[in-house]
Amino acid sequence: MAMDEIVDGLSEVSCDVLVIGGGTAGPMAALKAKAKNPKANVVLLEKANVKRSGAISMGMDGLNNAVIPGYATPEQYTKEITIANDGIVDQKAVYKYAQSCYSIIEELDSFGIRFLKNENGDYAVKKVHHIGTYVLPMPNGETVKKALYRQLRRARILISNRYMATRLLKSSDGRIAGAVSVNTRTAEILVIKAKAVILCMGAAGRLGLPTSGYMFGTYENAANSGDGYAMAYHAGAALANLECFQINPLIKDYNGPACAYVAGPFGAYTANNEDRRFIECDYWSGQMMLEFYNELLSGKGPVFLQLKHLHDKTIEEIEQTLHKVERPTRGLFQEGRGVDYRKESIEMHISEIGFCSGHSASGVFVDDNARTTVPGLYAAGDMASVPHNYMLGAFTNGSFAGLDAMEFADNHDFGEIDAAEIALERERVLAPTRREDGIPPNQIEYKTRRLVNDYLQPPKVTRKYELGMRRLAEVREDMQERMIARNAHELLRALEVQSIMDCADMAAHASLFREESRWGLYHWRTDFPEKDNENWFCHTLLSQQDGRMTSEKRAVQPYVVPIADDEKDLYDKQRIRASA
Ligand SMILES: Cc1cc2nc3c(=O)[nH]c(=O)nc-3n(C[C@H](O)[C@H](O)[C@H](O)COP(=O)(O)OP(=O)(O)OC[C@H]3O[C@@H](n4cnc5c(N)ncnc54)[C@H](O)[C@@H]3O)c2cc1C
Repeated sequence: MAMDEIVDGLSEVSCDVLVIGGGTAGPMAALKAKAKNPKANVVLLEKANVKRSGAISMGMDGLNNAVIPGYATPEQYTKEITIANDGIVDQKAVYKYAQSCYSIIEELDSFGIRFLKNENGDYAVKKVHHIGTYVLPMPNGETVKKALYRQLRRARILISNRYMATRLLKSSDGRIAGAVSVNTRTAEILVIKAKAVILCMGAAGRLGLPTSGYMFGTYENAANSGDGYAMAYHAGAALANLECFQINPLIKDYNGPACAYVAGPFGAYTANNEDRRFIECDYWSGQMMLEFYNELLSGKGPVFLQLKHLHDKTIEEIEQTLHKVERPTRGLFQEGRGVDYRKESIEMHISEIGFCSGHSASGVFVDDNARTTVPGLYAAGDMASVPHNYMLGAFTNGSFAGLDAMEFADNHDFGEIDAAEIALERERVLAPTRREDGIPPNQIEYKTRRLVNDYLQPPKVTRKYELGMRRLAEVREDMQERMIARNAHELLRALEVQSIMDCADMAAHASLFREESRWGLYHWRTDFPEKDNENWFCHTLLSQQDGRMTSEKRAVQPYVVPIADDEKDLYDKQRIRASA
């Protein structure tokens, strides 16, 4: 058989809890679900291979948001994230995370994932955020995936690698009933019936095109093509604040973090071409990105991460992490460029846009138990709406999802599935394989993402958005009528581009709905340049209603931790004022 040759096949399995996405949140959700009911069947479905999948595939440099007793309190953290996210936060979920994440750190530690400790054996937490201290370095963070995998094997989680989920299935009472997936190497269809489903499919990281032009040179793990966002949408779940884009400051051309979270605590900082600091704080927020953008436009760019003022030994220590743990290619890249941090600063630029709650706030709407608006359907990690939750948030909220989903499964029987729905989905999935001639998925994808850059990248201009939506609709027609897939691998790409297109439509729709500017560069609308708390201090929820994309306002739930008036705009004051 030729590689990736298309095989005709359809099989069905069932389980109590189905977890889709085996990156970060997924493995933890599966472990917790199984621990809650060891007799139950838990399936972990992954498009790639759980051993090396997701944003943490190579490792991680540290925990960006650890709330560790003695350094920070859940109240402080909740306050910080509320302010960093311009107040649009349901604090209950953030607060619950903040209260629970320490026990998850201890659990990860018991898995063999090591965190930086001081001479007394206490966690050595560093300050990067504007107000509090939450960054915990992981000098041997390259082991994180291996340690997780060991736990999955030990718990006898049923792992299905190389299956890409395409659509969720619901029963007639609106409850979740399972999912359809396709083997990425044979194109065989696998239907999984489940009493509860947890979505952990990561960010929508292939929405914008990196300035390098490389389709897979994204900041995010490139397998995260927004399938989770698209599937939730088609299942009728609500998605929150999609106009709050993810945009990050990255190493130019390398398109990965520079990374100020690692180097900042040692004294490195973001500087302009005059070697001057221009922002107070290197923590990634929309307001910080706006100052970054303004600096680039002011003629004081490029912007750099500056280390050259540091002691040689300090730089060596930083390199130990930066070049070995999370992105081993980072050292190779700098070496290839001949950049020595002792002499030269690291040139940075602005990333492509994406959806990600891990770094901003755009995700499938969930409550503090990771429940979506569809009964029995859960979401956690970068694709769920708990803001700024990063890796530890994926683990912690993944654990909430696993526990609650198993409880749901214990109390419900399987929802019935309409065979006609499966047949329809099978035809939709395989449609590009049925054509003799047409446009390959990579061309559709390149065009879609180029249009995303041309029209949707902030600053957001209404006229551009309207034009962009028309152009995207034209490409959608090509995608639906003329796209071909000649083997199973191309079929995977053809399915991914459909998710990317859905995400582009949602990004445009959500952005046009919110008629104000908020979250700095993430949602800067030139036609509505001011923040408008009177009309827009609310979430926006996007969902499919009567077959149409619809947006509505949703009130921010009363705060658990009050924010004083003079604290509310602390993150707006990022720019360093010139002193006389
Ligand atoms: C470059 C980079 C650096 C980072 N650095 C840090 C850091 O230092 N500290 C920190 O705290 N956080 C960091 N983060 C953030 C952190 O890694 C993420 O917030 C976290 O890993 C997200 O977990 P997740 O489970 O939501 O997604 P992921 O871990 O990305 O997992 C998603 C999984 O879903 C799978 N998948 C996608 N679509 C499908 C489908 N259709 N069917 C089946 N499977 C599918 C993917 O293959 C993937 O395995 C970083 C992120 C990036 C990208």
